[in-house]
Amino acid sequence: MQDISYNKRFEYNWDVPFKVTLGESYFRFLDGLKNKKILGNICPKCNGLHVPARPFCDKCLVEITKWYETSGIVTIESFSVTYVKFLGLPDPPHITGIVRAENAVTSFLHQIGGIPYDEPKELDEKTKIGMKLKPVWAEKRIGDIQDILYFTPVDA
Ligand SMILES: [Zn+2]
Repeated sequence: MQDISYNKRFEYNWDVPFKVTLGESYFRFLDGLKNKKILGNICPKCNGLHVPARPFCDKCLVEITKWYETSGIVTIESFSVTYVKFLGLPDPPHITGIVRAENAVTSFLHQIGGIPYDEPKELDEKTKIGMKLKPVWAEKRIGDIQDILYFTPVDA
């Protein structure tokens, strides 16, 4: 019988440059970030608020053209604290969360920060589902999702 080692480690490098065409909805959403605005749009059929804005309602499959400026406040739906370094992500520990803008029917992924701690393991206990967060903006904004550096507790 052949001895197979499943613990063998390989090193990979994913460097995949690519271009996307944003379309009007995503372009307008990202462009709003330059002015510290988190824009959504509202489905004409179900009135669902989509944040980030998108071209079509996933539920009704109709085009969405009515725009809405959110308060910028989001709620944590789920999160994960990372204690190891990943390429392209902040130094650990850092928190990645699924957040939802007020009254939105959609969520998005972003970084969560500004939660004080003495020991990194405390972040698991101090970060709460349902916690309200506000955006922390980059000083220089270019119309990119990273114009929001991270979301931080409203009372921080
Ligand atoms: Zn809809």
